Amino acid sequence: MEAVRLMSKANTGLVVVVGDDGKVLGVVSERDIIRALANGVDPSTPVDSVGTMNSIVKVHEKDPIIKVAALMAERNVRHVVVVDDYDRLKGVISIRDLLREYDALKELARKPLVPLTKE
Ligand code: AMP
Repeated sequence: MEAVRLMSKANTGLVVVVGDDGKVLGVVSERDIIRALANGVDPSTPVDSVGTMNSIVKVHEKDPIIKVAALMAERNVRHVVVVDDYDRLKGVISIRDLLREYDALKELARKPLVPLTKE
């Protein structure tokens, strides 16, 4: 219920669970909430039994947005967590954010991320 309140207040589809050290422990998305409600899960159930608490899809804050787009497609998620050098939460990029960068993504997609070497 606390996750639902936070999503409603912030108008977001994802809540990130962090430890005292700021490291990412897991995520709860609106999908998880819908699934939980459909299964009749009690609203007082802890988030770690409803959300995803391992294999978190994340990028470093300096990674290019094309990597975010690739991860979303590959891992079938609409949110990618952004972390710093110490794996601490910096933010979240949603598919909505990416759509705003459509022109930049089109441009990046034309260029290889790693320059190809001639043999
Ligand atoms: P979404 O499409 O982002 O609403 O989430 C779909 C499913 O993927 C839910 O079960 C989420 O818990 C999970 N999920 C969403 N974002 C991530 C992420 N960055 N890392 C791992 N799992 C995620």
